[in-house]
Order: sequence, then structure tokens, then C-alpha cells
Amino acid sequence: MPDTDPKSTKYTGRCLCGSIRFEVKSELNDISACHCQQCRQWSGHFWASTDCPTELLTFISSLTSLTWYKSSDHARRGFCATCGSSLFWKLNKDGEEGDYYAISAGSLDDTSQLKTKRHIFCRFKGDYYTLEDNIPREET
Ligand SMILES: [Zn+2]
Ligand SMILES: [Zn+2]
Repeated sequence: MPDTDPKSTKYTGRCLCGSIRFEVKSELNDISACHCQQCRQWSGHFWASTDCPTELLTFISSLTSLTWYKSSDHARRGFCATCGSSLFWKLNKDGEEGDYYAISAGSLDDTSQLKTKRHIFCRFKGDYYTLEDNIPREET
């Protein structure tokens, strides 16, 4: 009974070109929109993401195109080297891997069950847009 199996696939996702595809066997939290400068530079606007425990994300494609960029002393960001899609953020401090992936909301095939629950790092947001929804905002 796949529908009740807690380990069955709940979400699938992919990059723009489809070289990188993955399955998520976890319920996902609602979406956080991060307005920090790194997320804005990396994604081209602000970055919307959700978290998944590392062991519940399975790659179902070759990993040839998945490239990791060390974006700070405590994190790295995974993207597709073929099409450029921003896909993952992961804690990585002193070579120690974090236990979850932050996944780009835009890479998920079906987000009909997800909502944006908060804006974070709003004090660093771009000057060219305003946040006019009623979603909670955090300055950091
Ligand atoms: Zn791609
Ligand atoms: Zn950010």
C-alpha cells in the first residue's frame, strides 16, 4: 500500500534540463523565502526552499552535472553544471556534512500541498521589490 508507506516517495524534483532528478521520501515543511544576499545572488531573486532529511532524498539520475560550490565557511550550494539550476543548500562546516538538504522550491514537480510560511533575512532584501503579502517576516 504505497499511499500509507511512510517511506514512499512524496515528492519528485529536477533541474531545468533534467540531468539531475531526485525523489523525496519525507513530508516537506512549508517554504521559507530567504532574502539574504547570497541567496539573491545565487538564485537571481530571493530563494524559496524547504528542508528534507539527508537520508530521505534519493537521486534517481546520474550525478555528473551536480556541482557543489562552497558559498561560506559553513555551507555549500548544489547546482546543475549543465543548465545552471540552483538546487540545494547544505550545511558543511569543517568538512562535516549537515543532516538535511534545503531544496529549491522551484525544483519540485508538484508544490500544490506547500505554502510559503515565512520570509527570512528580510533586512538584506533587494531594494527593487516589496513584500506585500501577509506572510510573517523575520529580519534575520
Ligand atoms: Zn540541469
Ligand atoms: Zn539566504
